[in-house]
Amino acid sequence: MRYVSTRGAAPALPFDDVMLSGLAPDGGLYVPEAWPELDGAKISSLRGLPYPDLVAAVSAPFLEGAVDDFSGIAADAYASFERLAPLTDLGNGLWLLELFWGPTLAFKDYALQLLGRLFQAGLDARRARALVLGATSGDTGSAAIEACRDRSALDIVVLHPHGRVSDVQRRQMTTVPSANVHNVAVRGTFDDCQRLVKLMLADPDLRSDLAATSVNSINWVRIMAQVAYYFAGALALGAPDREVSFAVPTGNFGNVFAAYVARKMGLPIRRLVIGTNQNNVVARFLETGRFSIDTVVPTITPAMDIQVPSNLERLLFDIYGRDGEAVRRVMGEFAEHGRVGVEPSRLQELRGFVSGAWFDESATGRTLAEVFAETSMLVDPHTAIGIAAALATERDPDVPVICVGTAHPAKFPDAVEAATGVRPPLPGRLADLFERPEAMTVLPPDRHAIEAFVRRVAG
Ligand SMILES: *Cc1c(COP(=O)(O)O)cnc(C)c1O
Repeated sequence: MRYVSTRGAAPALPFDDVMLSGLAPDGGLYVPEAWPELDGAKISSLRGLPYPDLVAAVSAPFLEGAVDDFSGIAADAYASFERLAPLTDLGNGLWLLELFWGPTLAFKDYALQLLGRLFQAGLDARRARALVLGATSGDTGSAAIEACRDRSALDIVVLHPHGRVSDVQRRQMTTVPSANVHNVAVRGTFDDCQRLVKLMLADPDLRSDLAATSVNSINWVRIMAQVAYYFAGALALGAPDREVSFAVPTGNFGNVFAAYVARKMGLPIRRLVIGTNQNNVVARFLETGRFSIDTVVPTITPAMDIQVPSNLERLLFDIYGRDGEAVRRVMGEFAEHGRVGVEPSRLQELRGFVSGAWFDESATGRTLAEVFAETSMLVDPHTAIGIAAALATERDPDVPVICVGTAHPAKFPDAVEAATGVRPPLPGRLADLFERPEAMTVLPPDRHAIEAFVRRVAG
């Protein structure tokens, strides 16, 4: 399998180059040159596989043998998870897919535990080292740090918006005492952090001096690794003989894009229901076809406080019939004017199975409280937004809706307590988090300051 850039002006590359480069040199994102399809018999044969084997089977068409012993790497990557994608019945045809039992308590561990190991293996084969650059609105950073810490082939620098992530999220990043881990608190928003990382990755000098790459969901491997849990959830409820729908809370559009990929591969997904907070770019785009940037509003769902969802570009590529030049035009107009529109006719197919809804903080809190009252389960506020979106959408009683549980409630204890009166305790492995010493560097949202820091620690 080869990969092409969504902006059509970069050479097609094989898997390992795509993994190590992250962003394409033309500013686009890599996507497979065609979506592989699995037929019903193949999908049925995946039932009951141990989770790492399911990941290997679902990833196989994207890898085509590009990684030695992928199955062994996957088995190792998921060994530290307390539970793997369990489903809980929420009643009323709703199910919760719990993706928060990995080392940092968010779904991002699924992709990053794998990606850290794949980086190390790919670099070892080339006898090379790399710098991993990440921007985080909270959960990517800790998951990436946990995946890259102490790996001899890697240095990792993570930018997070100063004061805009939860204490638990910050401490999960800043209390890791490994010499190859560097945290920067940027005086700005997540979009500033993401822009700075993209600027640095787009700089050929910096890229070649430091072999810089990305662990954000601009990296294709993040998406690929997330496809498998959509298969796991659907198979557990009877796929391929029965359709299911998914409700997904969205920030950078990575997680829900993996669901879209699963559907493209033939998994019978009836609907994708997308939930956002007040930073509702995606919900508005689906409704109006217009895409415009606003100021980021900080919310109780910080992992979704995003106005420029990177992975929407991968969707645009399909919307434009995989015409990279058209995507380049659209993204160029967006960069110039901060807004752009897609002709309504191009959205027709998508609207047949995708819908979006957005919720403010009080609606999110009400849903969290309702779930608690009805099921005695505490869910995190991001997960609550997905559930709220599912509840707000017309449902077919024959099609179960799987709500994606993106984080453990203990990552957002203040919001959970405010909504339910119950403070969720940190699970055992993080029980002493607030006693561990922290280390981070605070910098302005200025490219030169950040680049100087990066060169100093990783040069
Ligand atoms: C990252 C994150 C999201 C958003 O996922 P995207 O892939 O960026 O859309 C939602 N909830 C939680 C808890 C997250 O960490």
